[in-house]
Formats: sequence, C-alpha cells, structure tokens
Amino acid sequence: MAQATTTGLETREYQLFINGEWVAPRSGETRERRNPANLNDVVARFPWADEADTERAVQAARAAFDGGDWPRMPARERAHVLLKAAARLREEAPNLAVLLTREVGKPIREAFGEVLATADVLEYYGGMALDVKGEAISNFVPTAFGITIREPVGVAAIITPWNFPLLLASWKLAPALAIGCTTVSKPSDLTPCTTFELARILQEAGAPPGVVNVVTGDGPTVGGYLAASHSVDKIAFTGSTATGRKVMQAASGNLKKISLELGGKSPNIIFEDADLDEAVQGALFGIFLNQGEVCQAGSRLLVQASVHDQVVERLVAATRALKPGNPLDRNTTMGAIVSQAQLEKIQHYLEAGQKEGADLLVGGQRLTGGEYDQGYYVQPTIFDGVRNEMTIARDEIFGPVLAVIPFQDADDALRIANDTIYGLAAGVWTRNVDTMFAMFKGLKAGMVFGNCYHSAGLSQLPFGGYKQSGIGRELGTHGLDLFTEVKSLQLRLH
Ligand code: NAD
Repeated sequence: MAQATTTGLETREYQLFINGEWVAPRSGETRERRNPANLNDVVARFPWADEADTERAVQAARAAFDGGDWPRMPARERAHVLLKAAARLREEAPNLAVLLTREVGKPIREAFGEVLATADVLEYYGGMALDVKGEAISNFVPTAFGITIREPVGVAAIITPWNFPLLLASWKLAPALAIGCTTVSKPSDLTPCTTFELARILQEAGAPPGVVNVVTGDGPTVGGYLAASHSVDKIAFTGSTATGRKVMQAASGNLKKISLELGGKSPNIIFEDADLDEAVQGALFGIFLNQGEVCQAGSRLLVQASVHDQVVERLVAATRALKPGNPLDRNTTMGAIVSQAQLEKIQHYLEAGQKEGADLLVGGQRLTGGEYDQGYYVQPTIFDGVRNEMTIARDEIFGPVLAVIPFQDADDALRIANDTIYGLAAGVWTRNVDTMFAMFKGLKAGMVFGNCYHSAGLSQLPFGGYKQSGIGRELGTHGLDLFTEVKSLQLRLH
C-alpha cells in the first residue's frame, strides 16, 4: 500500500486489505484508475481480486467475528476506534478531498463536504455504540421475566457504488462496527481509493486485524461472490436496482440479511405559492449536485402550470451561469462524469429526450474544447414539456439532466409524482402548510423534503426507498438495526 497521503496528487498504489495486511491478489493483476476530469492523471493502481482472494477476506472477517475480540470487547473500545477515525478523517480532509475529487470527478468543495460528512457518521455511530440496549418485560405474566438483547449479525459484506464512495461506505461500516460486526467491503472498481484510505484510517484508529477488509475487482465476480457466500451473514448494498435484484437472488442461498439502497427518479414539486427564488435554487441543487450522479436527485421537476413560464425562465438563466470544469478548481460548480460508459448513457438520454419530442431548453451536448477534451464533461441540461411516460421521465439517467413536467393541482402533482417504479425521495415547495402535509402523506417515497432538497441539515435521518428504490433504512437507529439480531430471553420464575 502507498505511503500515507501527502499531497493527494501522487499516483496511489493499493493492495488488497485483508486481515490487517496489504496483500497482492493471487493473480498479481492490477488496474488503473484515471481521473475522469483529466485522463492524463493516473489516480491509482489497485488490485484485481478473484473469488479465492475474496474468500480469503471473508475468512479473515469470519475468524475475527467467531473468535476475535471485536464483538466481545467493551462497547467503549469500539466507540473509541470510530471516534478516533472520525477525528483522523477531519485532519486528513484536505488531502482526502483531493483524492475523492480525482477518483469521482466531483467538485472539490463537494468532496470536502463528503469527507466531513463521513467523519460525522463515524462519530454518530461511535456514540451509538455506547447505547445499544434491549428491553425488559416484567409484567406480562407473574411467573416469568423477559429480556431482549441486541447482538451483531456477524460478517457483513458491504458493496458500494462510485458516486459517493466514501460516505456510502461509512453509512454501512460505521453501524456494522459499532455493534460488533466484522466486514468485507467491495467498492466500485471506478472509485476504490477512498475506501482503502478509510480502511487504513480505521486500522490506525485501532480496528483489529480481520475486522475491516477491502477487496477490489470485477463487480459480478467479487460482489457476486460476497452476495452468494454462505460465510457472509449480511449484505449491505448500494447501487442500481438491476444489480440489487441480482444481489437479492444471490443472497437467498443462505438467506442472509439484506439491505438495498437502489435507484430513483425523484419528483421535485414546485407549487405556485412557493418562494420561487428558493425553489429554483433548490431545483438546481436537486439535480446538478455531483453532476446529477445522485440516487435521490430531483430529476423530475413538477411545476404548477400557473408559474411554469417564470420558473423555467429563472432555471435556464441559473443553469447557464453554472461553471462546469476542472473539479479541482474551487470555482467549478459542476465536475466531470465518472466514466466513458456513464457519459455515453447520458448522451443516449439526451438524444432520446429530443426524439420523443421534449423541448431542449439548455445544454444537451457533451462539452468539448480546451480542458473539456481531457475528460468526460457534459452540459447541464433541461428538457421542458416532458410527459411522465417519456423515457427521460421514467429511467434513472444519473447525470445532469432535468425533466420539467407541468401539473395543474395537488392531486395531479401526486398522481404524476407517484407514477414511477421508484420511491426514493421527493421535494415539495409551497408556503401552504396544508398542501405541504398533504404531499408529505401522499408521496410514496422514503424521504420527502419540504422547502429544501437533499437535506435541511438533518443528516442522520433514515435514508432509503419505497418500491424498487430498495429495502431497509440506513442512518439513525434504523441503520444500526440492519446489522443487529434481536434475541428474546424468557426466564420462568419459581
Ligand atoms: P452498480 O449497481 O453498477 O454497482 C454497484 C456496486 O455493485 C459496485 O460496487 C459494483 O461493482 C457491484 N456489482 C456489480 N455487479 C454485481 C453483482 N452481480 N453482484 C454484486 N455486486 C455487483 O451501480 P453504480 O453504477 O456503481 O452506481 C449507480 C447506481 O447506484 C444508481 O442506480 C444509483 O441510483 C444507485 N445509488 C443508490 C443510492 C441509494 O442510497 N439509494 C446511493 C447511491 C447510488
């Protein structure tokens, strides 16, 4: 493994992280990750594991769970590791943010925010480790006493996507470690670096060998192996709905516990009585954060017909003012697309929108010329006059493409909003509290934002989706439940 990050700009060399050691994959094979914003920049070389390498990591986690100290040590010792790692992440945030920007292509300011948010998650679950408790039942019958206790589920496999690689790893690792699980993480092969760094930091903070393992390689090979392994007790997956379905099938062999955070096509709904300046800003933030590569992106903008023209006019003006470009430049507001394949997928939808008759208001093209030719850049794009049955309103594009759909009244908005296979998030902009609550209740989504999008600052609220957006809720106490078994104890009294 490479030396500790010094500038964040060198080519990092990683090995598999198994049983507290950096080890070469059996094949000796490595892959390169290049910065999608500048393909001349080799961010890292990392190992390409096969099934046998993955099995090695699983067995290390198994041994650390079945016979190691981690699940058995006083909770405060596990808490201490998480709190120390959180502090370390904050110290290293400037360099980690550069590394994160280089592996994903996201603007440096957003990357910095992701590192700090990751530290918050470790700290939060560090605190929660101290407060894991069950119930006592003394008054059901006079002749018995009942107790419930909470135990770690065992070996947890953690499979993560490329869009928020550090933060999403922490949403799973932190609660898993807090309760005493041991783990094998498999980051996306597009963005392996920050997961390796997180493992290094956790080890330096005191996580014993075998508790945190990281394996990189082909998704179906390594991820599929983890999902199917009978030595794994729990799988926590974030990724596309299509892959989530495969993980669920593979996990059925030993009926391992599963939690799935999947795709979305979330509605962001602007009513005529909203503060339109705020709503427009929220709509832009909702779709263009992280180049639109966000599971809960507000990719369908539902606008009440009476204010449609003024909203659209402001949206277009604000979109033209965005600064796509080198994500390491602090003035950049939109970075690069993560890969050529993702860029091509977005381009496919840019064409589909026009073919299906949506009005292209702004954007619609790959960005070229100058620094844009060094990476994968696309214009922030808005389609108007979209009907909810069009492909660009139904499929998750996972790019900076907004579909504007007009609606007449609240019933109409709800009907359109809920007409999707997904149910991850939704936004509502109105000053009318009755309308707001009617939407809060009526929207079929795991997370609904009122007069904000993505977050109002309550970053530990449960996160997850209805319908095909997933199973289970991460973050908060719900996030801990995903890695917990509940045991009921009954004592007959004499
Ligand atoms: P993906 O489904 O292609 O890959 C996700 C992870 O699964 C990667 O690590 C990949 O290597 C691995 N994988 C691939 N095939 C596998 C298999 N057969 N078995 C096990 N693992 C396998 O997703 P992606 O392109 O990396 O990420 C984008 C997707 O993630 C989008 O659909 C997005 O909505 C979703 N996402 C959801 C959330 C959420 O919290 N709901 C958050 C971020 C991203």
